[in-house]
Amino acid sequence: MQFQSYWHATSTAFAEVEAGPVEGRVDVVVIGAGFTGLSAALHLARRGVSVAVLEARHVGFGGSGRNGGHLNNGMAHGYGEAKAHLGAERAKNLWQAYDRSIDLIEEVIAEEGIACDFRRSGKLKLASKPSHVAGLRANFELIHREVDRDTRFLEKSELADEILSDQFHGAMLYGKSAMMHMGRYVQGLARAAHRHGARIWEGAPVTGRRRDGTGWRIETPKGVIRADRVIAATNAYSASVPAAQLEYFKRRIISVGSFIVATRPLSEAEVASALPGDRTYVTSMNIGNYFRLSPDRRLIFGGRARFSATSDQTSDAKSGRVLQEALARMLPQISGVEIDYCWGGLVGMTSDRFPRAGTADGVHYGMGYSGHGAQISTLMGQVLADLAMGREDSNPLQGLDWPKVPLHSGKPWFLPLVGLYFGLKDRLS
Ligand SMILES: Cc1cc2nc3c(=O)[nH]c(=O)nc-3n(C[C@H](O)[C@H](O)[C@H](O)COP(=O)(O)OP(=O)(O)OC[C@H]3O[C@@H](n4cnc5c(N)ncnc54)[C@H](O)[C@@H]3O)c2cc1C
Repeated sequence: MQFQSYWHATSTAFAEVEAGPVEGRVDVVVIGAGFTGLSAALHLARRGVSVAVLEARHVGFGGSGRNGGHLNNGMAHGYGEAKAHLGAERAKNLWQAYDRSIDLIEEVIAEEGIACDFRRSGKLKLASKPSHVAGLRANFELIHREVDRDTRFLEKSELADEILSDQFHGAMLYGKSAMMHMGRYVQGLARAAHRHGARIWEGAPVTGRRRDGTGWRIETPKGVIRADRVIAATNAYSASVPAAQLEYFKRRIISVGSFIVATRPLSEAEVASALPGDRTYVTSMNIGNYFRLSPDRRLIFGGRARFSATSDQTSDAKSGRVLQEALARMLPQISGVEIDYCWGGLVGMTSDRFPRAGTADGVHYGMGYSGHGAQISTLMGQVLADLAMGREDSNPLQGLDWPKVPLHSGKPWFLPLVGLYFGLKDRLS
């Protein structure tokens, strides 16, 4: 078993990295080379803006190279909850932004020639308990009536064409949802941004940021660059470089570990015995699971597994064992299949699980996608490009208040308590 992301292991790394020192002057510096930062860089470079991307580690090092591979439309919440929290108009705008973002990914892939196995597979949200069916059905009815006709409710008796498991009691199908190879997409985005003129440095953590006239002086161990505007696209990794002066985000983003195992490639008979629907699948538990097949037919099976703020080999291995047990309960017919990859990464949560994008502390930012960022981050990159060019009207999150999390400054000490709370909620539901 390899302790690395399947997406990292099976994509070709971006090779046109800047070899020299970080130096010069650009219109915009982007901090972080994941989907958000690279999409911002691509949309700026396409408009002729000079842009430099500074990445602490390597392209796709963060969530963008470590996620479950789902491009699910809709947000982390039930639609009724979103309306109650955001108001009807903003909830609808935000819902539609998730749809637009999947469309935008499809467009970027076609326009930039990125081969990443994009496919409109549809997503199934599975009711893990009989008591979850009523809530799932009510959410479906609201969504179907108000924002998405391309949805359907599947009774327990209809699930056999989709997933062969006795653990589920009904499901909601989201027809617009998609999947792709996340590593090939993120590396392809970097190549596209570079082709349009963006310069990308790896191993260049931003360790300082100072006002310089009307612009900024950005410091890294590889040198200093000046810019008129700065975009922070650091999401769950905002606290990973202690000196980065991203305090505003460190006090608001809660970084939570999420973990994944990938099996060896399954035979078509094994696929047919377990997941004949071949979609993206998510369970209805708070501490639930998400899974799909890879382009080479591995089962990519993820979940929160443990409430940990760390992803390293020890933590990932512990979580991998929890995931294998969950997989064995859910799909016993393939439970003995070898695990080839085990990895983890950090998810950037906000306290209300709604993402945020705007301008604060002198920088434009988009983050806090709360586990639903693989799709919206490409659109957010475009929104951040607009913000850097002085345009606010494309931002579906403009003006959404973002208070800091009390007593939090980057290390979420309260995670075990949150884990206990959600574990109890799941048991009692
Ligand atoms: C295990 C896991 C499973 C997930 N599954 C899904 C899924 O199936 N579907 C879904 O929609 N979402 C999923 N997500 C969430 C999704 O991956 C993220 O929301 C998305 O990738 C965020 O992209 P990003 O570009 O904003 O941030 P990231 O990809 O995290 O990029 C941030 C980058 O900033 C860099 N950085 C940080 N500080 C500095 C600094 N000071 N200087 C320079 N660089 C810096 C980091 O090294 C990192 O590369 C998952 C996340 C994880 C971890």
